[in-house]
Amino acid sequence: MTARAEELAANLEGVRRRIREACAAAGRPEDDVDLVVVTKFFPASDVRILADLGVRDVGENRHQEAEAKASQCADLGLRWHFIGGLQSNKAAAVAAYADVVESLDRAKLVGPLARGAEARGSAVDVLVQVSLDPPGSDHRSGVDPAALADLAGRVQEAGALRLRGLMAVAPLGEPPADAFARLAEVRAGFVRDHPGATLLSAGMSGDLEHAITCGATHVRVGSAVLGERPAVQ
Ligand SMILES: *Cc1c(COP(=O)(O)O)cnc(C)c1O
Repeated sequence: MTARAEELAANLEGVRRRIREACAAAGRPEDDVDLVVVTKFFPASDVRILADLGVRDVGENRHQEAEAKASQCADLGLRWHFIGGLQSNKAAAVAAYADVVESLDRAKLVGPLARGAEARGSAVDVLVQVSLDPPGSDHRSGVDPAALADLAGRVQEAGALRLRGLMAVAPLGEPPADAFARLAEVRAGFVRDHPGATLLSAGMSGDLEHAITCGATHVRVGSAVLGERPAVQ
């Protein structure tokens, strides 16, 4: 093994242990929670190492970088999760390589995403990103929970998209446990309306335990596996 492979293997084992322990503490079976390794800013060579180490799901947040890496790693059979802010003029292109789009947060994206999925010839899994910002803030990422039902309905009507669940990011400036407790309530209502859409993507390197306590089925972990990203975006 190269030094980098050893480093990633050790980090990955640490994260998997945290997931196991959080599942045990929450009384959930450990295979309830899937790990999505967020590889943004890191090269395709790291993605190859991760695939060798058994990683099946990877996440990216910027279209150009994601598109290039997905094509460089097309032989690995990975599931690509798009987790970043989506522009409507890029959405069709994202659907060409993303197996899961986790960041659908407005109706304007539904048409282009569905067209991209149709052109690709396979349905794309969609998670609706819901805002956990306190009421009164400007809801910069994610749909306001009050508008979730309408947006989810539009996704469901789009033939080439499969509504699978929700995604959220804990806002800064609030304990993640509080934000994820709100998320669990939003999700309970959502699953009553959409019994098949049970996925919940929540939790990152710093707060995955809280997310698992509150029902996350997917955690998106970057820096705890790959190391610190460069500070400049
Ligand atoms: C970068 C990113 C992550 C991973 O964050 P880490 O703190 O590095 O684990 C998770 N979710 C989203 C939406 C991200 O953009």
